Amino acid sequence: MSIETRPGNLLVVTAPSGAGKTTLCRSVIERLEPTIRYSISHTTRPPRGNERNGVDYHFVADAEFDRLIGENQMAEWATIHGHRYGTSRAEIEDSQARGQDLFLDIEGQGAVQIKKLFPQAILIYILPPSLADLRDRLLRRGSDAPAEIERRWENARRELAFLPNYDYIIVNDILSEATRGLEAIVLAARQRRENMQDAIRRFPAAPQS
Ligand code: ADP
Ligand code: 5GP
Repeated sequence: MSIETRPGNLLVVTAPSGAGKTTLCRSVIERLEPTIRYSISHTTRPPRGNERNGVDYHFVADAEFDRLIGENQMAEWATIHGHRYGTSRAEIEDSQARGQDLFLDIEGQGAVQIKKLFPQAILIYILPPSLADLRDRLLRRGSDAPAEIERRWENARRELAFLPNYDYIIVNDILSEATRGLEAIVLAARQRRENMQDAIRRFPAAPQS
């Protein structure tokens, strides 16, 4: 189906840090772009390493984040590790207008807010095969300091409490299979009846709903 003829889907993807969410989302985007892209969040945390403003995040000052909330420009937001993170309404409206699907890499509190505001949003939770695997991946990624790893480990365990809100669960054991699972969810969402109104209209004999 051509990208212009359907509204874009919102696919919220959450995982305890280290489960492989970034790896999975990137490989699905590589396979399906430009029909899907990452949502770029706003955050008050400073950039890390080679993160770029406007690419990885919109890095903003506290006052700017306050302004965005005050003007009701955020679809959702949450405080994590002492910094605020949020998805702007503009980011969502832009992708919907283009008929482009959006991966929202956000944590559990934000996911709940998105589902309230956009009931058609699809919530996907990525699990590692086990807690031991999670610990292993956090350690082996090698990009974080030991204190950061400990904090992520504690947060990961807390994040699991949000699991019951999610529509789909993917266990990221064998990467190629997990990638196929995530891609299948994205593709299936495109075929939902509410996304197929153009096709239905070509059959006036069918009830139009
Ligand atoms: P997240 O974005 O969830 O924090 P990453 O995508 O950065 O996690 O993955 C964490 C680490 O685990 C990385 O080193 C990545 O290469 C590795 N990894 C991801 N998926 C798998 C998998 N299926 N099997 C083994 N290692 C994996
Ligand atoms: P990091 O600082 O490692 O980039 O992200 C920390 C956490 O913030 C991750 O769990 C990530 O999913 C979450 N996050 C990133 N952007 C947003 C956002 O816009 N909203 C919410 N609620 N969480 C976000």
